[in-house]
Amino acid sequence: MIIIKKAKDLAAIVNNAIIAKKSIGFVPTMGALHSGHLSLIAQSAKENQLTICSIFINPTQFNNPDDFKKYPVTIETDIDLLEKCGSQVLFLPDTTEIYPQDFKSIHYELGYLETILEGKFRPGHFQGVCQVVDRLLSMVKPDKLYIGQKDFQQCLVISRLLELREFKIKLIICPTLRESDGLAMSSRNARLDPEQRKLAPKIYETLLMIKNTFSDSDPKELIKKATNHLNAAGFETEYIEIADAESLRSPELSNNNKRHVVLVAAYLKDIRLIDNLLLD
Ligand code: AMP
Repeated sequence: MIIIKKAKDLAAIVNNAIIAKKSIGFVPTMGALHSGHLSLIAQSAKENQLTICSIFINPTQFNNPDDFKKYPVTIETDIDLLEKCGSQVLFLPDTTEIYPQDFKSIHYELGYLETILEGKFRPGHFQGVCQVVDRLLSMVKPDKLYIGQKDFQQCLVISRLLELREFKIKLIICPTLRESDGLAMSSRNARLDPEQRKLAPKIYETLLMIKNTFSDSDPKELIKKATNHLNAAGFETEYIEIADAESLRSPELSNNNKRHVVLVAAYLKDIRLIDNLLLD
């Protein structure tokens, strides 16, 4: 695997691939890699002649400085995992490569999407996500971009970003990989102590309970019950919402034929976990 740290070296690889008419698949990550990340890389490798994975912990998307400081860094293991899964190129820039001195940030018009759920509870988060993804896409110039459904709202935000910037890139949304007890794989899981790790699958259990009873329940009552269930188990639930899966608007405002999704964010001490499940 080639490890590239400088934007100019990445540009050479990308230009060569474009001249050779090789399709480029791109998997952006923040490292502390797990099988969920590797599944995105495997899918890209199947569908493209060149797969580029990036690891960059983007400071501008962390609204909470403590979360940024405590974000797990496991670069040696990450490189090992990437080598083993046959990854071709790792882009591992430092902050000055992504945000050089003359970097000018712009505001992304995300509208409603930025005012709800993750947007509401993590102010500025999606502007930071757009900033880094915009920057990385302009460097990697992929044909296809692979992201995980695990970050459901982020998928909609990135889709909006592609529209806003008129990028001709196909967005591929990959399913959430879970541990055998249902816990969605996440880099932040590495921070859970054994007690918290035992509790964490309750999030998925709660999502399944909602999915199984959604069709004949009042959504507000269901959310109240689910929130009480999580809080009683020791979580501090930030939100549980049922929404139209395409717009994330409330189900009452959406056409009944549309798909719905349930989304959750809950804390175990200072560790924030998110998950979601399509309901129909
Ligand atoms: P992150 O490193 O957390 O920024 O994630 C990088 C990419 O991996 C994002 O597109 C995530 O949505 C995706 N991802 C994270 N966790 C999972 C998972 N459990 N299953 C599938 N994809 C995931």
